[in-house]
Amino acid sequence: MGAPGHLDPPLAPAEPRVLIVDDDEVTLLICMTALQARGFDTQQASGGDAALRRLSPWRPDIVVLDAMMPGLDGFETCRRLRATPGFESTPVLMLTGLDDDASIQRAFDAGATDFFVKSNLWTLLAQRLRYLLRSAANRIELEQSKARLARAQQLARIGSVEWRLGIAGPTLSPEARQVLGIHGNDHPSWRELLRRIAPLHRSRLAQARRQAARRGTALACEVQMQPGAEATPHVIHIEADGQFDASGKPFGYSGIVQDVTERFAEHRIHHLANFDALTELPNRAQIMQRTERAIEFAQRSQHAVALLQINLDRFKIINDTLGHAAGDELLREAARRLRACVRHYDAPPAADAARLGVLAAHRLECVARLGGDEFAALLPELSDVQHAQGIAQRMVEVLHAPIIVGGQECFVSASVGLALFPRDALNAADLLRNADVAMSAVKAQGRDAALQFSPKLAGRGRSRLELESALHKAIERNELVLHYQPKVDVSAARLVGVEALMRWQRGSVLVPPGEFIPVAEESGLIVPMSHWALGEAARQSALWRSRFGFNDPIAVNLPNRMFERDDLIETIHDAVTRAGVPHGALAIEITETGLMKDLQGVIPTLHRLEAIGVEVSIDDFGTGYSSLAYLTTLPISELKIDRSFIRNLGKQKEGTAVVTAIMALARSLRLRVVAEGVETSAQMEILARLGCVMMQGFLFSRALPPHELEVWMQQVMLTKPVSWWAGTGALSAARSGAVPALAVDQAA
Ligand code: C2E
Ligand code: CA
Ligand code: CA
Repeated sequence: MGAPGHLDPPLAPAEPRVLIVDDDEVTLLICMTALQARGFDTQQASGGDAALRRLSPWRPDIVVLDAMMPGLDGFETCRRLRATPGFESTPVLMLTGLDDDASIQRAFDAGATDFFVKSNLWTLLAQRLRYLLRSAANRIELEQSKARLARAQQLARIGSVEWRLGIAGPTLSPEARQVLGIHGNDHPSWRELLRRIAPLHRSRLAQARRQAARRGTALACEVQMQPGAEATPHVIHIEADGQFDASGKPFGYSGIVQDVTERFAEHRIHHLANFDALTELPNRAQIMQRTERAIEFAQRSQHAVALLQINLDRFKIINDTLGHAAGDELLREAARRLRACVRHYDAPPAADAARLGVLAAHRLECVARLGGDEFAALLPELSDVQHAQGIAQRMVEVLHAPIIVGGQECFVSASVGLALFPRDALNAADLLRNADVAMSAVKAQGRDAALQFSPKLAGRGRSRLELESALHKAIERNELVLHYQPKVDVSAARLVGVEALMRWQRGSVLVPPGEFIPVAEESGLIVPMSHWALGEAARQSALWRSRFGFNDPIAVNLPNRMFERDDLIETIHDAVTRAGVPHGALAIEITETGLMKDLQGVIPTLHRLEAIGVEVSIDDFGTGYSSLAYLTTLPISELKIDRSFIRNLGKQKEGTAVVTAIMALARSLRLRVVAEGVETSAQMEILARLGCVMMQGFLFSRALPPHELEVWMQQVMLTKPVSWWAGTGALSAARSGAVPALAVDQAA
């Protein structure tokens, strides 16, 4: 309705407008009067030309045309009327003579809507006119709704397709032609249409057809198709029902084709939002959603749900040393193996009542990538916890086989944590958190295993937080201490340096570094702790220098993140300046893996350390996965062979191979080599024979508090009574067990 103040007057039922065309003036007049009396609005024309002129200005709803007229007769007038824009479907009633069958046919041919035999049955004529008007209105409505349908189909990019068996091509609606990219008067055969479908999808369509025929269902399938010569293929959805005759014999198909390219794009977007691009596995959001749903199902069906968190051990080292492409490949392979562990997971036979729920729940099962080297697996319905434990165990095992990336064999392992609904948590987030707690416990216990969550583990997580805050205070309260372990040269019977090793004096307990250094590294506390260690070592050096002329370097262990800091050189400089010792009083140890984590970031610092005269040694050498080539370019002074290689000396035949190789390498690079963890004289002897004469280990001394080491140094080193350290004499002495009592006592 119009706006207030513009109310339309009540509409009188509009009188239909009739244009009456007849050359007989009398008939015209009577007819007009009769129709006006029956509610029509009339106008007249006495011939075809006059009628056509009237059309546009007056726009009649219906035209009554006398067939026989001089000049332009009714037929020709009708034909021209039909050709006039806007009058293509205006109803035209042709007035004919009695029994004039030929005229009736001609009238229809000329485009008339109906005919009426001339008479004076005016009421009948009026009724006929109203009927024609009504059906015209219906037809217009139908046409409009057809147009709307076509428009809707066009918008939805749907078109209809009919196909009769045995006929070369389908009958396509205009919309279908548009969808399939068919232009002009082309009537492509099936063969031509099929040729535009990607080969793989062609067989998919054939398969869908066979399947539909076998099962008696509708054919439905999506194919990629090259519409016309367009470059980008479209995704076309085809859906069709078989058509059968009265005897049940199939005679064709009837259905639709729809361009679903956009919807497919939406699907892609959905896919990207829920799946990991690298491994194609569901991502974190997706597995969390699935876990929530699995919990809903499980509540109804009284099953358990297991969530596993899987973390690859040592992935980062491989990623950093072999490069990201290799890392990606490794992750993909790990993903494949993990997925294979759950794919064949057999559902226990479900109780019939719960069957529906169980089947749906089963579909939620998945392995997901949470990010980085972290995966998770959802086992949506368990009747037995052992199933989940078995799968977790299998995941650990499948990762034992080497993974070949970039032509190199890599060994990874996995730490798997497992949490169960409802035992360990009641929602997805808590379930994942507890699986993570269990996984972290595996890491702490040495990796490469699977563990179920238990509340005790969560407590451990809490104690870790407590440890962190206590460590914070430890720095402020000066509870950190350095113990020192000597490095000796057995060939010259000489002390060549000491290594500073940190301890935490926590009340009466001396906490070893293995228990707090990892927390310090994770929390960042390692930075102030390292600063403190450098200062303390410099102070100790000054003290020993003044007391008995000690001038060997004290090596401080630093994590690689200290090398990435701009202030390391400054810190060292400050420490030695304040203590009044030369820069060379300090040395630095960095682990091989720490070095390889960020070689490019560390190298500039190595050069600056060399420039100020601070020596660097590579700690735990041989445990990293690095190629040795990089060593030639680095300004380092010393390699420390990891304890694990020393342990095997003399026990296994191959035990000496690594040491021999490292010695050869070091010789060519002119690097010092120190063997770590020498505990027995047998190990010492073998090392000396292999040319490795610098050693550190319990055989000589444990790491000692400064005043105890002082005693050790004065008695053992400065008085030099130790013939067993001098060349072969030392070795035979060691063999006979004549190790100086003091060294052994201190070690005990
Ligand atoms: P590391 O740098 O490899 O230190 C050598 C470790 O081996 C020391 O353990 C030492 O006590 C031990 N060790 C020495 N000789 C023998 C032996 O003959 N047999 C055996 N079984 N062990 C021997 P500690 O003091 O417990 O230190 C462990 C690790 O903690 C160190 O390994 C180092 O990575 C880290 N650490 C210690 N102090 C510091 C520090 O001040 N800063 C940093 N960032 N890390 C430190
Ligand atoms: Ca060390
Ligand atoms: Ca070491």
